[in-house]
Amino acid sequence: MQCPQCGSEQLLKNGVRQLKSGEPVQYYRCKVCQKRFDARAGTPMHRLRTPTAVVEIARQASSEGLGIRATGRVVSQARNSIRTWEARLATQAKQLSPPPR
Ligand SMILES: [Zn+2]
Repeated sequence: MQCPQCGSEQLLKNGVRQLKSGEPVQYYRCKVCQKRFDARAGTPMHRLRTPTAVVEIARQASSEGLGIRATGRVVSQARNSIRTWEARLATQAKQLSPPPR
C-alpha cells in the first residue's frame, strides 16, 4: 500500500468500513501527509459503489467470452457500468505490465 497523495508507505490503519454489500474496506491514514484513504484508493475500483466481488464476476464472465449485454445480465448491472469497469481495468493492466527489457 502507498499513500495516493504523496506515495509514502508509512501508513496507519484507520478502521474498517463496510460497503452496502457488507464487503469490508480497510481505511488508512498516511503518517507523512495525514491524508485518509481506503484500500481501494489508487485502484480502478476506487470510488465505485459496486462491490469488488461483483466486478470480479463480471470480469470472469467477460473473459469467458460473454458480451457486455450478457455480462450485465449475469451481475444485474447496467451495460454502461460494465463498460466503465472494463475501461478502468484496461488502464490498470497497462500500468501494471512490466517495462520491456
Ligand atoms: Zn501521504
